[in-house]
Order: sequence, then C-alpha cells, then structure tokens
Amino acid sequence: MAENKVALITGASRGIGRACALELARSGYDVAITYAGNDEAANKTVEDLKALNIKAKAYKFDVSNKDACEKAAGEILAEFGKIDVLVNNAGITRDGLFMRMSADNWEAVINTNLNSAFYMTNPVIKTMIKQRSGCIVNMSSIAGRMGNAGQANYSSAKAGLIGFTKALAKELGSRNIRVNAIAPGFIQTDMTKGLDAEKITEHIPLRRLGQPEDIAKTVKFLAEDATYITGQVIGVDGGLVI
Ligand code: NAP
Repeated sequence: MAENKVALITGASRGIGRACALELARSGYDVAITYAGNDEAANKTVEDLKALNIKAKAYKFDVSNKDACEKAAGEILAEFGKIDVLVNNAGITRDGLFMRMSADNWEAVINTNLNSAFYMTNPVIKTMIKQRSGCIVNMSSIAGRMGNAGQANYSSAKAGLIGFTKALAKELGSRNIRVNAIAPGFIQTDMTKGLDAEKITEHIPLRRLGQPEDIAKTVKFLAEDATYITGQVIGVDGGLVI
C-alpha cells in the first residue's frame, strides 16, 4: 500500500482549519494540526480525524513565536516523516478604528496572521525542496483584497499574505512547489459569530454565509487537483468580490 500523504494545518482545532483537516483526512492524508490553547476542541478534532483511519496529532504552540514554530515543525517532521501540504490558516482579529488602534493590537494581528506564515513555511519548504514537491495554501481574506474599515491590522496582514503567496510561487515553482492563497468571505465560525448575518447576506450574490466546508473543499482542490495552478488568490466568498 502506498504511504499516506501528510498535511500540516495551523489553527485547526476548530472552524475553517478543522474542516480542512477533516476534508484532507477523508482523502487519505495523515494530518498534523496546530492550535493555541483550546485543548478540548483540539482533542475532539484529533479524535474525529483518527476515526477516519488516518494518523493525526495535535501540537499546541503560538504561531506568532518563531522558535515555537521551528520546534514544532521539527517535531512534526520527526513524527510524520514528511509534509506534502502546508495550510497557513491560524488567525485572529483585534478590530477597531485605526484612530484608536493600539500598537499591541496591530502587532498581535500582524504577528499571528502574517509573520506566522513566514515562521511555519520557512522550516517546511526545506523539506518540500528535498522532496521536490509540495503545496502551500495561505488563508487570506476578502479584507486583504478589498480592505475593511475597522480592520487596518487584519487587512494589512491578509494583503501581506497575498504578496507572500505570489513571491513564493515565483521562487518555488521550479522546485514543483505550488503556493496559493484562499480569500474567504464571511464564513460561519467563532470568528464571525458576533456579526449580523442577515444584513451581510443581503450583499452576497449567493445569499448565504459560507461554511467551513466551502473552504475545505477548495483546499482539497488546491492540494489534489490544481496541478497547474500556482500564485493565485482563490476567492471563496459567495460572489462578494467580483
Ligand atoms: P477561528 O474559528 O477563530 O479559529 C482560529 C484557529 O486558529 C483556532 O484553531 C485557534 O486555536 C488558532 N489560533 C489562533 N491564534 C493562534 C495562535 N497565536 N497560535 C496558534 N493557533 C492560533 O477562526 P476561523 O474563522 O476558522 O479562521 C481561520 C482562518 O481563516 C483565519 O486566518 C481567518 O483570518 C481566516 N478567515 C476567516 C474568515 C471567516 O469568515 N471566518 C474569513 C476570511 C478569512 P485555539 O482553538 O486553540 O484558540
């Protein structure tokens, strides 16, 4: 039997990351998930992953900490042997009008949503280059494409991920490593639970909020089928950005 491919998904205890982990597991991937502190959610996700007869393990660390990312990448490689797919998904919001935005809230979002992608990708591409194959997916946002009032920090981090995606795609294409970004619209997770769903839906051509599974299917497409796609930003937003 051929050995399983391996996916590493950051921020996968819940929400979009969890759905991505389950989708890839259903396709036969072994999955390493990471999370910040929610042990209960992470344990449940690992349990659900293992029920799909694949290898799964959770790693608790702060993705905004460079040393922690390097250490975890090393442990994951030692445990799983390789990494075929990296999904840089972990993210937070610290919303507020720019006039009142503290440097702490600016830095927390840039460190967690953008610098983390550098910290995780750096050790992982070394192994992908050796393998001469790999797929990296960066979780951007419509905020990174359009900007969003009250989210200068988040919009900057998500736009940064788009630039990061395009530059890496150009650098790594010759090594058979594809790098793409997904720009989700409004997806029903803990991150968006305070928003007025009815009001938002009026502006969405498909007239519904997205589900984590809508994003997960796109991650699976990028990992498995999108063999000639790199450097792209795939909008999964019900038509919000057209
Ligand atoms: P979520 O439900 O709030 O889940 C966030 C995940 O990230 C959790 O697994 C959390 O771990 C982890 N995390 C947060 N901070 C971390 C840190 N410092 N170190 C390590 N892990 C950390 O979020 P989501 O809605 O699924 O969003 C996932 C990604 O999609 C984010 O990058 C977000 O910006 C992006 N996105 C979401 C939407 C949306 O509408 N939901 C739209 C566009 C883009 P714990 O469970 O341990 O806290």
